[in-house]
Amino acid sequence: MLFRTLVLRASSLPFVKAFVTRSRIFRPLVSRFVAGETLDEAMAVAEGLAERCFGVSLDLLGENVASEEAATRERDAYIRILERMKASPFVEKLNISIKLTALGLDQGDEVAERNLRQVLESAGETFVRVDMESSEYTERTVAMIERVFADRPNTGTVLQSMLIRTPADLDRMIRLGARVRIVKGAYLEPPAVAHQDKAEVDRQYVAAAKRLIKEGRYPAIATHDEAIIRELKTFIEQEGVSKDVFEWQMLFGIRRDLQERLRQEGFNVRVYIPFGESWYPYFSRRLAERPANLVFITKSLLRK
Ligand SMILES: Cc1cc2nc3c(=O)[nH]c(=O)nc-3n(C[C@H](O)[C@H](O)[C@H](O)COP(=O)(O)OP(=O)(O)OC[C@H]3O[C@@H](n4cnc5c(N)ncnc54)[C@H](O)[C@@H]3O)c2cc1C
Repeated sequence: MLFRTLVLRASSLPFVKAFVTRSRIFRPLVSRFVAGETLDEAMAVAEGLAERCFGVSLDLLGENVASEEAATRERDAYIRILERMKASPFVEKLNISIKLTALGLDQGDEVAERNLRQVLESAGETFVRVDMESSEYTERTVAMIERVFADRPNTGTVLQSMLIRTPADLDRMIRLGARVRIVKGAYLEPPAVAHQDKAEVDRQYVAAAKRLIKEGRYPAIATHDEAIIRELKTFIEQEGVSKDVFEWQMLFGIRRDLQERLRQEGFNVRVYIPFGESWYPYFSRRLAERPANLVFITKSLLRK
């Protein structure tokens, strides 16, 4: 957890951001986690995975836009992605993930809600997952899903096992019937709102995932943690749960071997594919998750 805190704090410093985004040293690692800068590149990766029976969720990178106009541009970009998906022979395997701060949450709930509703309308039958951002947005995100779900049930959100409030949010989403993706949580959060001990975050993860598998609507169990996956597979077997009632989700570029293995075992597996030019915040969160990623960069720097 200390490593994660240090990397996330450092990555928020302007000179670190300037160095990382300008230096070519980081590019090989960026391209491991990000599927390209354009929709064409992302769709090529998505369709390649869909052909091999994986589900895909496309994420156009970008968050915390600075104006209503920028939020409108993001909304329109998502609508273009959805149109492109509808023309794909693999449309049933594809959906999107979106962040409310890309749709204008910092400019006001009504701005983000208006944009989200327009995206949901143009999505038709396609599912639109609202990603979860830092805890400062959790209540507004959960409440937004509660408001739009009655008219637009093709949406759902993400809950983070690190947050102390998550069991109560799980109740709300299960009661609503909205689809939940459960994750550990990628943001730096204070002790007042989040468990700081990794073992506790993992315990809460397993408890939430079990609850969703039993009571939730087609939940997404999003993790690369093999020990947790093993424990949940045992649970599913013991409880006689069908493999069709949920899906595993993993990030593009992480544990491809595990993604493939689960698919071959007959599970539904969806890969989350981020793309676009605004990759820096996403990339920083991935770096912070694993010391080995930073070792890789340090070695490249030393070789120069
Ligand atoms: C599909 C998907 C969607 C997500 N959406 C959100 C969201 O909306 N909001 C949010 O806060 N978080 C989101 N996350 C991120 C999540 O919160 C975690 O930060 C991330 O998944 C790492 O946790 P883990 O469960 O894999 O477990 P960890 O204990 O962090 O990792 C377990 C193992 O996975 C591998 N691994 C994990 N991360 C990396 C990495 N970066 N590089 C290389 N190997 C790695 C390593 O082998 C590691 O030992 C999402 C994750 C996934 C898979």
